[in-house]
Amino acid sequence: MFSSTKRHGLLRVVAVLTALVMMFAASAYTAVPQQVSAKSEEQQLKDELADLKDKQKKLQKEQQQLKDDLADEKDKQASYEKQIDNVKEQIEIYQDQIDTVNQAIKETDQKISDKEDEIDQTNKDIKEKEAEIEENDELFKDRLDTMYIANSSNSVLAMLLGAESFSDFLSATETVKTISESDQQLLAELDQQHKDLEQLKKKLEDDKQDLEEAKQEKEDQKAELVDVKAGYEDKQDELADLYEKSGIKIDEITDRQSEVSEEMRENDALIEETQADIKKLQDAAAEAEKEWEESHGGGGSNSGGGNSDSGGASDVKPSASGYLWPLNGGHVTCAYGGYVGHRGVDLSTGVVGTSIFASRTGKVVDVQYWDGHTKTGMQSYGNMVRIYHPETGTYTRYAHCNSIAVREGQWVNQGQVIAYMGNTGNSFGAHLHFELSTGASNSTRINPLPYIT
Ligand SMILES: [Zn+2]
Repeated sequence: MFSSTKRHGLLRVVAVLTALVMMFAASAYTAVPQQVSAKSEEQQLKDELADLKDKQKKLQKEQQQLKDDLADEKDKQASYEKQIDNVKEQIEIYQDQIDTVNQAIKETDQKISDKEDEIDQTNKDIKEKEAEIEENDELFKDRLDTMYIANSSNSVLAMLLGAESFSDFLSATETVKTISESDQQLLAELDQQHKDLEQLKKKLEDDKQDLEEAKQEKEDQKAELVDVKAGYEDKQDELADLYEKSGIKIDEITDRQSEVSEEMRENDALIEETQADIKKLQDAAAEAEKEWEESHGGGGSNSGGGNSDSGGASDVKPSASGYLWPLNGGHVTCAYGGYVGHRGVDLSTGVVGTSIFASRTGKVVDVQYWDGHTKTGMQSYGNMVRIYHPETGTYTRYAHCNSIAVREGQWVNQGQVIAYMGNTGNSFGAHLHFELSTGASNSTRINPLPYIT
């Protein structure tokens, strides 16, 4: 909605402008732009130089910034390096502790293994003892059996009854008793040894249990150490990453530094070149002015200033004020102020290609196709020449030319052909729009007619 309204507004403005152009067209007059930017070559170079110097300043500033950035980044990197060293030291300390604990665990494992061997040995001893007990038990029983089974043949009884005396009888009884007691004593001893072995085994198993517990404690301690060490390793990775990134940034900064240095060198060369060009231009201008002063000495203008080698010069004599009617013949088709804004005079022979002469000796300061209409919305001069006249400090302008015969910076003599009459720009019919200004600014334009007639 908004943009469409805006577009309608714009169309209205264009329509009004078109109507204005048509009005001027109807009278076949040219309108005059409010402002003409006719930059001399020297001014253009000076502007370029200012831009180059600006750019150089910016590059210098960037260079300083890069230097600061590089110093900061190098500080950062050094700090990361230091932190990495610290973390590495911590990792080593923890690794040493882990190694120590590992060694302790290994030793404990060895002790447990020794203890297990002892337990195995004791188990073997117990089994042997049990076998011994069993065996002696059997022997004892056998002996008793033999004694009592012998009853059938009355061996013991016979031995007892066979005693020839009571004392023999007692002695025989004692013998039987002694045999039995010694067997019993042996059995009791074996039993005690068996008990001792069992006790030893119990002690060994207790010892082994203690060792297993000690080992578990060390394993826990090791797990804790491994955990802390892993934390430091993560930190080390993190720092290594930061260090690497910092390195990349340093590379980028130094790359940009050499780029900027190269740009500054190139820019410096351009500055020197431009300065030399300006100097050359100024020297040439000074030389030309000197020459001109030498050939036009005394301040007065030379009458009939036709230049024979200019390929067609004016036969017309300059006016008393020293300005030349810029055409061979022709007449005024629109006076100065002939319509609002017409700040020049229109002269015409009615023939395209009629020679246009420099009204006065001077320096060509502007040659261009001045398309005012498309550039600023103002009327267009078309092909135009502007000449500076140092003798009087004035300027003359020649507009709507068909073609131009001089170039900017060139010195021209009064009456020298500078262009050919045409119908370019905002012109309707072949004519020369001629202006005279007392200074460089368009606001100093005056009616030229009294000066050229
Ligand atoms: Zn005009």
